[in-house]
Amino acid sequence: MEQNEKSSLLKLMSDQLSRSVRMYLDNCARCGACVEACHAYASTGEARYTAVGRAQNIRRLYENYHTITGKAAPWLSEAVELDELWMDKVYETAFTCTGCRRCMVFCPFGIDTQQIQTIAKSLLIGADLEPKPLTVRAKDSIAKGVNSEATRAKFAKQMDQLRQEVVERWTAEAGKDVIPLDVQGANVLYVSMAEAHSILPAARIMNAAGESWSLSYYEAVNFGAFVGNRSMTEQICQRIIHEAETLKVKEMAICECGTAFRVMKHVMGPFDFNVITLVQLLERYIKQGRIKLDKSKVRGRITYHDPCQIARNGGVYEAPRTCLRAVTDDFVELQPNRCLNWCCGGGGGLVIAAEPEFRMKTSKIKAEQLKASGADIVATACEMCYAQLNELVDEYELDMKVEFVSNLVAQALVD
Ligand code: SF4
Ligand code: SF4
Repeated sequence: MEQNEKSSLLKLMSDQLSRSVRMYLDNCARCGACVEACHAYASTGEARYTAVGRAQNIRRLYENYHTITGKAAPWLSEAVELDELWMDKVYETAFTCTGCRRCMVFCPFGIDTQQIQTIAKSLLIGADLEPKPLTVRAKDSIAKGVNSEATRAKFAKQMDQLRQEVVERWTAEAGKDVIPLDVQGANVLYVSMAEAHSILPAARIMNAAGESWSLSYYEAVNFGAFVGNRSMTEQICQRIIHEAETLKVKEMAICECGTAFRVMKHVMGPFDFNVITLVQLLERYIKQGRIKLDKSKVRGRITYHDPCQIARNGGVYEAPRTCLRAVTDDFVELQPNRCLNWCCGGGGGLVIAAEPEFRMKTSKIKAEQLKASGADIVATACEMCYAQLNELVDEYELDMKVEFVSNLVAQALVD
């Protein structure tokens, strides 16, 4: 590795060393409490997938360049040089971590392996070695914000087609703007994915609740966060924040996309407006009696997969359960659940960046957990989980359907 490149990568590393990250790197007791916590290790038994194993590459580099022992007597420590070999090893461990933080729950020091992996990811980005599908999508999202007039015109045209579909399917709500755009002073700015499945059920429910809402021109998903690029993450969020501020909305509801919600609320916020995830909005309508649901419309036993970024990392546990208990009397919990739920294995952008074979192999424990529930439907509240769970159901031949919470609530609506 050229000296110039090495120096600039080491500078990138120094920039990431906040007080909390230093604490995480200095304090691992090698107790092994995190070993069984990682779904990838629990599914494969491969030590390189343990949280402590993944962090070790970064810890050794940190020892070499940032600790007294490493600098003065590297032979007394496990310090390593930054070189191509290190970059290869760290790619393998950084971009196979979903950032689910299950390991952190088990660690007596609360060591955040996801944050440690952010160092590795920023060095890989610096060396132009990150997974390109994620960066390409992140750049595309940013370009939509830069060319906002063209984006808005194209999006408005697509919504004209969807409006027709909503009116045809749900005539009860016809007669008013069923997918409103640019509503000044709306209560809710709904930030969806670009596809109809993320817009139609939410539109139907918000209209049935008599909500004052406006659909965002920008899709929620944040590929900058998946790739671990802070600047791209912020640029992608800023397009939506600017829209919310311009419309002066009271609240921003993020669709069922865990990372988009966590980043907007817990990394970018707080703002003058509130940020919630769609399932929290649906819970409110149910609790306030603003929508009526008929439990006979959804058949079969339902279970719920807590998305890591909504539940463990986002703090939202009860809202989706309230929604599901309102559509069925036959709800069962996965075991374990809530903050101990197993990651689906597709988060952190792995659904896009990692090979299906790897994702299926490292999520065997998830498939076993789903099967043991005996449910006919596994509901979730995250796009990445939805995609990964569908692949798992096929791969492990589980007799079960995957559904979004919002779609089940929309199905149960009494017109
Ligand atoms: S954050 Fe999740 S995927 Fe990453 S090491 Fe911890 S348990 Fe494993
Ligand atoms: S549980 Fe925490 S302290 Fe123990 S090995 Fe894992 S990261 Fe280190």
